[in-house]
Amino acid sequence: MSTVLTMQDWQTKAANLKINGQAYINGKYQAAAEGQTFDCISPIDGRLLTKVASCSDADAQQAVAVSRATFESGVWAKQSPVHRKQVMIRFAELLEHHGEELALLETLDMGKPIRYSLTVDVANAARALRWSGEAIDKIYDEVAPTPDNEIGMITREPVGVVAAIVPWNFPLLMACWKLGPALAAGNSVVLKPSEKSPLTAIRMAALAVEAGIPAGVLNVLPGFGHTVGKALALHMDVDTLVFTGSTKIAKQLMIYAGESNMKRVWLEAGGKSPHIIFNDAPDLAQAAAAAAAAIAFNQGEVCTAGSRLLVESGVKDQVIALIKQEFASWQPGHPLDPNTHSGAVVDKQQLDTILGYIAAGKEEGAELVSGGEQHMASSGGVYVAPTLFSGVNNDMRIAKEEIFGPVLSVISFDGMEEAIAIANDSIYGLAAGVWTTDLSKAHQTAKRLRAGMVWINHYDGGDMTAPFGGYKQSGNGRDKSLHAFDKYTEIKATWIAL
Ligand code: NAD
Ligand code: MN
Repeated sequence: MSTVLTMQDWQTKAANLKINGQAYINGKYQAAAEGQTFDCISPIDGRLLTKVASCSDADAQQAVAVSRATFESGVWAKQSPVHRKQVMIRFAELLEHHGEELALLETLDMGKPIRYSLTVDVANAARALRWSGEAIDKIYDEVAPTPDNEIGMITREPVGVVAAIVPWNFPLLMACWKLGPALAAGNSVVLKPSEKSPLTAIRMAALAVEAGIPAGVLNVLPGFGHTVGKALALHMDVDTLVFTGSTKIAKQLMIYAGESNMKRVWLEAGGKSPHIIFNDAPDLAQAAAAAAAAIAFNQGEVCTAGSRLLVESGVKDQVIALIKQEFASWQPGHPLDPNTHSGAVVDKQQLDTILGYIAAGKEEGAELVSGGEQHMASSGGVYVAPTLFSGVNNDMRIAKEEIFGPVLSVISFDGMEEAIAIANDSIYGLAAGVWTTDLSKAHQTAKRLRAGMVWINHYDGGDMTAPFGGYKQSGNGRDKSLHAFDKYTEIKATWIAL
């Protein structure tokens, strides 16, 4: 996949695109049981893209029943791992084959630049499916160290019916981080995309069946979280609930599980990640470029956004000047222009949230260095410039709360102890970055940071081989890597007397 298409090409494709807004249950597209829909509005220009099925409890009942039936029938769960591997690889290939269509749907629906929809979202979503599929016939069970007259087998079994509730910032990718291991392990899945970005999940459902995943193994229910999402979370026949989204909703899902069947709940939630630049950073220009990208990429709508930039006082002024320069290449542009690096934010509500935090930063006495305003309002879309605050202290709202927009807070410090204390002073613990040439300081800081992911002398690295997830109120469990399979399997101990 490459971005050889021009903006004009993409606009023509967008004009001719057939957009499906229906639910997908048992291998068929259908309207919501109660016939309700909601408007899917593009944040690029405010245009109505389509009406989308607004699923409710009745749809959840049907989809879970279908998932249970396909699981119990063994039509997928009891296929050999080699077979499931081949089908998952085919599923990945179909995502790539339909890459332009999926990327276009993602960009129209949530506003991210088309270049990244293609090269990040679709490409990594396909990688996730392929990697998980390739892994499944290489994972062995265990035999316990028993006396000679006994055999203890420790085996993994699919959990059964998985409900996956995902967010809008990387809609297809977050779905595939769940679907890869969930499906490869043999489960049936009900996927609920965000009401802000349902289109790629809906399209992908048919590709799964085309790839050879039996009808009814993957069902997709678009709709609002508090209706169909809640119905799934409270359902007595969902075995495992996996979630990516806000900490607020994550906590609510634990309550729903406790109020219903104690389904397993695995949560990937919010972050306020510290990005630490020490005086002895190996290359300040590189660090500043990484710091700018860490807050501007995907319009700052990234769980791991390096939103708190901790800069040691000796290099603070230099770093701020460099970031100001870097932000020039992250000014918002039309998302269908292949040269655009920063697109629209997901909707008007999110724009208002971001502008509200910018106002709060000013009120609390932070210094606005650049950005701070809405852009391209005449387009009918919702855009905001990358925004830089300096003189921030860690008690201000812009330093404590997840903004989910391109707003960077620079906090200065002196020495490793102070950096670690500020970094860990957060309810979150998702990710962290550290720039230093001192090997011991790098390792000491990395060890003491209470975060699930630490990046040294770069930011946001990793691939399918590394687990993704957080400490504290950033969640539990991990996506990606072999660790992800823990969420989608139960462990059985079978003890045999010989
Ligand atoms: P959100 O919590 O508002 O919504 C996430 C999903 O939950 C959506 O599908 C929504 O419809 C659903 N939902 C909402 N209320 C519900 C309810 N009462 N019951 C069941 N489901 C409900 O989050 P969002 O705004 O879509 O996404 C942004 C958040 O996601 C940020 O906090 C971000 O940090 C987080 N995120 C985390 C990771 C990670 O891996 N840790 C990755 C991406 C995004
Ligand atoms: Mn949308």
